[in-house]
Amino acid sequence: MSSKQRDTIPILKIDSPALWAELGNKFEKQLVSNLAGTHRVLTPAPGEDTISEALTAAFLRGDRHDFEFAYHSVLRESKPLRQLFDLSPDVGIRWSIPDLIRVTRSSAQPVFQVIDIKATQVATLFHKAQVAFYALVLRGFMAELGAAGSVADEGEIWHLQTNKTQAEEGYLVESFRLRSYEHLVIDFFQNRVPPLLKQEVSSAKDTTFFHIYFKCEQCEYLAHCRKTIAPEIQAAKRDVSAVPGLSHESKRALERMGIKTVGELAKARGLKSGKRPLSWALRARAEQLVARADALVTEKVSRLPERFTYLMPPRVDVGFFISIDVDPVEGNLAELGLLRTQSTGDDYVIEVLPTGTRDEEAAALQKVLGKLLQGLSEIDSHNAAIPEQKIYAHIFLFEPSEATSLQEALARHLDNDAIRTGLLEMIRIFPPEDAIPEPEYRGIHHLPATALRSVLEQLYAIPTTVSYDLRQVTAALAKTDSPLVGPYVPNLQFQREFSSRLSIDVSRMLRTGNMSVAEIRDDVSRRLRATAGVARWLLAENAQAQQPFLRLNKQPFRFQNDFHPLEADDLDVLQAQELLESRAGLLSTLVELALPAEQRRERLRCFADLKLLKWGKESWKYWMLFQVPEESRQAEMSPGELSLILTDDDPNIRLNYQRWNEFAIELPAPRDNHSGATLFVVLMPNVFNGPAFQELLHKNHAWYIDKTYRDFNSPRVLDFLRFLAAKDSAT
Ligand code: SF4
Repeated sequence: MSSKQRDTIPILKIDSPALWAELGNKFEKQLVSNLAGTHRVLTPAPGEDTISEALTAAFLRGDRHDFEFAYHSVLRESKPLRQLFDLSPDVGIRWSIPDLIRVTRSSAQPVFQVIDIKATQVATLFHKAQVAFYALVLRGFMAELGAAGSVADEGEIWHLQTNKTQAEEGYLVESFRLRSYEHLVIDFFQNRVPPLLKQEVSSAKDTTFFHIYFKCEQCEYLAHCRKTIAPEIQAAKRDVSAVPGLSHESKRALERMGIKTVGELAKARGLKSGKRPLSWALRARAEQLVARADALVTEKVSRLPERFTYLMPPRVDVGFFISIDVDPVEGNLAELGLLRTQSTGDDYVIEVLPTGTRDEEAAALQKVLGKLLQGLSEIDSHNAAIPEQKIYAHIFLFEPSEATSLQEALARHLDNDAIRTGLLEMIRIFPPEDAIPEPEYRGIHHLPATALRSVLEQLYAIPTTVSYDLRQVTAALAKTDSPLVGPYVPNLQFQREFSSRLSIDVSRMLRTGNMSVAEIRDDVSRRLRATAGVARWLLAENAQAQQPFLRLNKQPFRFQNDFHPLEADDLDVLQAQELLESRAGLLSTLVELALPAEQRRERLRCFADLKLLKWGKESWKYWMLFQVPEESRQAEMSPGELSLILTDDDPNIRLNYQRWNEFAIELPAPRDNHSGATLFVVLMPNVFNGPAFQELLHKNHAWYIDKTYRDFNSPRVLDFLRFLAAKDSAT
């Protein structure tokens, strides 16, 4: 459907300027203009957006073999493509316009590769599926043209370099095999498009499948979809997507069971134990989702039974609350704030960044994190001097994504001496590994902060719509019998539907001088106070609970003693950097592995629900043969990959990096099965015969293969640095 056709449908639409699109176009134009300076690029005539179909055909036929790239060529749908997609006569595919097609003529036949340009810092699954779609269109178009040559098996996304903005030049190339993504595209056209044709859309009736979730904030049709979850509608009659945390897939599954409204879900108490088979994700979250639906209907906060958390300690004498916002367009900090609370009063430092320059960002990090470190140092000294009056300190954020933003900001300034020294201090915050289990991942060093939203999601059903954001959550907690004091009430321009972090519009207004630093500072201080209010509310609830539910039994705060940043020399700094980088890689792997199997599978990082067909021994190695369900066949794992584990999905194994060796496997090159319906894996005798693996082998269960993290370099680098340090002290 063209945008013109879509505009004829009388539904509510917000006509806001497409800020992302504008910036994306700028990045793309700059990149192509730079490319044209060093390569032969076929570009549209002045005033045109694309090159003509005739010129595209000439490029593909080799009539314009003096050009290496074609920018914005136009590809028409073809008979082979229609057959592949199994399209009915009433479905047509519009012109496809890939950003770049590159031709390589080093072999007998030319090879054409599809490249898309994205002004983002990562290439997403959606971007890759788009390239796969273009590759399929190109293949069909070439076949119809009778053009010699083939389409490359790999596509590329050229995107922003991490930690750089659109204004900075340079880009990263991400290559990927197209096969998995082509399957997704073909499946969409063959299986999803036919039911879509039967849907009806008008201002009064919309029978298309939709699911409102936090990303809908960016969508121009939110005003239309939001009508189904509006507060004016009785809670029980609202669309089920009002329930926070419901995924698209789970909503589809619920719809198949006839559960379409919040009220119907609230009554589905036997969902988990019902006769219908549920997806893993829905089964795992059924109880939580039913309780959340019930909270919306009754407008009451309730604690989920038998739930405890290791994410937050039960005692906090001094709380450090951090707030971080980024400008998503420039990819740098928009504000960084810290609130210190204790019985003697509160203390703030809030840095708003009107320009976002590197220097401004470095100064903000130094000032705010410096204040945090100063506070922690005081507590450390106090606890060392007066052991009988120990102080318990803890760091809090509201959103887990704020911790990621902080890590990324620090990573942008590792070349800054002051920040590096600050980071070394940060390392001292991490308690010794064997003393205290870390909040989220046992034994892994990372910022020992609690994201309060995660605590609330684990423990409580709260009547909020779509998400557990600070505004909605604090408003609901303020209405309980022991109410939270000081909910977050934003000024109008700071109010967002499903999030309380700064919106892209506000950060842009800051950068263009249309919003004052004082206004943003005011909003940040409101959020910090409300976040502290949530922590206080949880601590009070825990203190009154028959069975306390906050279980992170921290010791009074002390710095780790065996590292002294003030005496750190260059070798210490290098060791710390190496360690941090390695930890960051491990941590991001653990974050992925913490996702449910269904989500890992969808991110193409897991072969899920494998069925063991047989196993045996060949030469001195063992092998196992699995049947792979259809939906698991796209996982991006290649033969020779060295960090794969085979488990029964037990989180105690997959989230414990010290046990990964006990379950390590290898994928040999496929022998004769190219469909992916079966999978052959190889195991070393020490793994296969190990007690842990033998126990797994004798249980009747589904099998899972996941990618883990193996850092081959850091241990060697660290050993070398230690060797140098020892030599240094010996001389
Ligand atoms: S469900 Fe969300 S993304 Fe889809 S049209 Fe509605 S608002 Fe947009």
